[in-house]
Amino acid sequence: MSTTATPQQRTQQRLQENVRIVLVDTSHAGNIGAAARAMKNMGLTRLYLVTPRQFPHADATARASGADDVLARATVCASLDEALVGCRLVMGASARLRHLSAPVQDPRQCATRIVSEVSTEGVECALVFGREHSGLTNDELGRCHFLGHIPTNADYSSLNLAAAVQVFAYELRMATLAGYTPETSAEGSEPLACADDMERFYRHLQQTLETIGFLDPANPRIMMRRLRRLFNRARPEEVEMNILRGILSAAQKHKTQ
Ligand code: SAH
Repeated sequence: MSTTATPQQRTQQRLQENVRIVLVDTSHAGNIGAAARAMKNMGLTRLYLVTPRQFPHADATARASGADDVLARATVCASLDEALVGCRLVMGASARLRHLSAPVQDPRQCATRIVSEVSTEGVECALVFGREHSGLTNDELGRCHFLGHIPTNADYSSLNLAAAVQVFAYELRMATLAGYTPETSAEGSEPLACADDMERFYRHLQQTLETIGFLDPANPRIMMRRLRRLFNRARPEEVEMNILRGILSAAQKHKTQ
């Protein structure tokens, strides 16, 4: 990009490079096409498909209606973890508010945060969308720092998948056009741990808690959900993550000596 680019153009470029739209287990290929169209309209290009039921498919191409370049470049993944590799900010879109969830943000708040983190730190971000019939599982939302919720009619809260993508993509566009001016990043701030580091940490944490007899291996779920919520809220830096991993290793070594 030329040095004469406006701040909006620079932010737009960063969003294109660093924001992934992740669709999990999509049943209808038409929704994938419609989501690609919604993305391209708003200047987004990076589509990740986790185990789509049908893809590529004629219905996807038909509904993409000219956004077939987004479909052609889509990355198909075998798991959500694979789609999140390298991401340091993960938002999960959900029609339902859940018990023990990550902090809830509306699409405008999500967009402001994404644009701010992408333009100051170049952070890789993912916006994750769930299945047409059942949304995202609690395990999948356990990988998210925030739960993005469109404040709909409580009696009829669920949008069509591509319509939900459209709302979030529109807010990202508006936040970009608002001309966010990056503040200089805080002195000494370190890169945040990414999604794959966090998953390795949670596995290590669970193993260690079992080794030291704190966690019942037959029933780890609620405790691990609470701990995920705590550490996802803290958003540890890579160096802090290394300290935490070191503490876990020391505890395991101490126990097995
Ligand atoms: N029946 C499902 C909703 C599936 S809609 C359920 O009750 O969870 C498909 C996807 O679109 C959802 O997983 C979510 O990612 C997104 N979506 C739909 N409505 C939404 C809303 N009101 N707020 C945020 N995301 C929404």
